[in-house]
Amino acid sequence: MSSTRTLILDSTLADRDGEGTGGGAAIATAAGVLRAGGLVAFPTETVYGLGANATDAAAVARIFIAKQRALNDPLIVHCAPERNDLRDVTAALAGDQVIGALSPEQHQRALVLTRAFWPGPLTLVLPRGRRIPTNVTAGLDTVAVRMPDHPVALELIRRSGVPIAAPSANRFGHVSPTTARHVLDDLDGRIDVVLNGGPTAIGVESTVLDLTAPEPAILRPGGLAREEIERVIGGLEVRDWRIEDERAPQASPGMLSKHYAPRAELHIVAGLDQLLQERRTLVNQGRRVGLLVQSGEAEACAGLDPQFILGGTTAEIARNLYAGLRALDSSEVDVILVSEVERAGLGEAILDRLRRGAQ
Ligand code: AMP
Ligand code: MG
Repeated sequence: MSSTRTLILDSTLADRDGEGTGGGAAIATAAGVLRAGGLVAFPTETVYGLGANATDAAAVARIFIAKQRALNDPLIVHCAPERNDLRDVTAALAGDQVIGALSPEQHQRALVLTRAFWPGPLTLVLPRGRRIPTNVTAGLDTVAVRMPDHPVALELIRRSGVPIAAPSANRFGHVSPTTARHVLDDLDGRIDVVLNGGPTAIGVESTVLDLTAPEPAILRPGGLAREEIERVIGGLEVRDWRIEDERAPQASPGMLSKHYAPRAELHIVAGLDQLLQERRTLVNQGRRVGLLVQSGEAEACAGLDPQFILGGTTAEIARNLYAGLRALDSSEVDVILVSEVERAGLGEAILDRLRRGAQ
């Protein structure tokens, strides 16, 4: 289904039962498009996803074309198991035929984690099931799976009756979308439908945890903090996820060092003093500078426009970060300045995105 116009459907209305008009009817329409092999952008609690039927290789191929995404970057499969039970998840993926297998210990970890954190911003890398074509997984025998914590996403998966492969709904390498407007700014006319569910609550992508390795490891920090996972399964290996040579064969694809990037240059500074000093230097060089401002810096930065207020807590900063980068990009600054945040909690994901955006 190639599109010339993207249909925008409002799924924010209370009626999601599909009987009448409103959110339910919108989701039912979108589910039909997915079943027919089309592309649907939909809200999750992290960012907007660009979904296709994960069991249909031709539909999945359209995701890569719409996003201009590198084929060696695997997709996350979104599922909505009836019971929060790993058997339901593997059945959806494999019809019980899993390629490779988890050891009893790995299996136990997966069970404990899904019980603790699903639905939620935790993606688990598991052995690939036979229902999932290899273009979903970039040729790997593992597959990344999660159950999103968003009523529209869950309803869409249930109504379409298939697992949904969905990367973030943006052009490849660009900042992820946290509103339906952001999706259209990147993909209007390239996808069939956008379900508008308002701004997303968490604002950064899910945490990706590899459970197939002997010791579990975070491949991408995200919306579920490392500390939360460690409370449930103990200490985690810290792996350097950055792949320096993007053309080299990748053991674990999708961890490109430059990613999540605004159009403008992004500079990370140590704190307020350096922020103000760096701004002066750049302005003196004739460059247009935009500021991402944390609450504690707001007073000192008053009037230094253009600027975007991120908020004070890491939850606020995560929620607002991508909207801020997009807003400053559209005011056509040359450089965006932002102060570092503490590494704890969601700070790890924020720093990860800032560093990759700044490469
Ligand atoms: P996104 O485009 O934000 O949905 O990113 C999906 C990311 O999940 C990829 O870029 C990888 O970092 C990660 N991922 C997905 N599938 C796998 C897999 N099978 N093994 C390792 N990482 C994966
Ligand atoms: Mg992405």
